[in-house]
Amino acid sequence: ATPAAVAVGTGRGAELGILIKGGAALEAASHVDTVLLDKTGTVTEGKPSLTELISCSHLGTSALLSWAASAERESEHPIARAIVEGARERGVPLLPAEGFRSEAGSGVEACVQGHTVRVGTPAWLGRAGIDAQPLEEEAGRLAAKGHTPVWVALDGALVGLVAVADRPTKAARPVVDALGAMGIETLLVTGDRAGTAHAVARALGIRTVFAEVKPEDKARIVREQRARGRTVAMVGDGINDAPALAEAHTGIALGTGADIAVAAAELTLLSDGIAALPTALQLARATLKTIR
Ligand code: ADP
Ligand code: MG
Repeated sequence: ATPAAVAVGTGRGAELGILIKGGAALEAASHVDTVLLDKTGTVTEGKPSLTELISCSHLGTSALLSWAASAERESEHPIARAIVEGARERGVPLLPAEGFRSEAGSGVEACVQGHTVRVGTPAWLGRAGIDAQPLEEEAGRLAAKGHTPVWVALDGALVGLVAVADRPTKAARPVVDALGAMGIETLLVTGDRAGTAHAVARALGIRTVFAEVKPEDKARIVREQRARGRTVAMVGDGINDAPALAEAHTGIALGTGADIAVAAAELTLLSDGIAALPTALQLARATLKTIR
């Protein structure tokens, strides 16, 4: 790649809100045939809102929401923001919490007025010896609608589900279609549960889904695609996407995403979320064609 062609390509990228970290990044992007899309915050708005409260104990739904939201106050996860916002909107009290801790891809735990509240995946509750199974059917029903259920336990007992939903962005479907027209296969990868992930994938015309994936396993999925001989672009916004962004031939971060994601990526889409993704890959192809 001649420096002049790279300068033109990166310059054109800048005009289009696409930040490109140099010639090697442009070259790698021109060969991409497989795009792995993170779900939350990348193909969805990343701003879910509270949709349903299901209590399986003596607690009313307002109390359930109050415990969950109080424990989630310090979490920056979009699910946590939706729960806290939902509590505020419903006028449900947020109680002071102590000893907050969170685990990426799993959930949170905090002590609220002397009571231990745990919110997150069934596995996260399972690690505290809590059986999440009794709410599995309800959770499946919510997930089939594309909602994300999170499990809530109080002092070691399962008390209910809080569901949030996050809509696909307007750009997502056209982007998947445009990538398909370029001969690029699009895959969805998410820490979210399978039912929710498949509902979103169906709406977008994506056939291959990797769900319930831990942050470190997103990088493994990138490696597996590489081992199949694919040239892979990973597109994500979160801290949990950074290892996979680094592992891909081309890491593509959203400008609205976490700093660490942007740092790990070769390309950054500065505006409009993933809307500029096909343009970015087309620009890379066009630039490399000029060079050759
Ligand atoms: P994604 O890959 O879709 O961005 P994450 O890896 O961040 O998802 O999270 C995976 C799952 O872990 C979530 O769907 C949720 O069930 C659970 N989880 C993570 N953080 C929290 C939290 N703060 N509160 C409740 N559940 C959480
Ligand atoms: Mg994300």
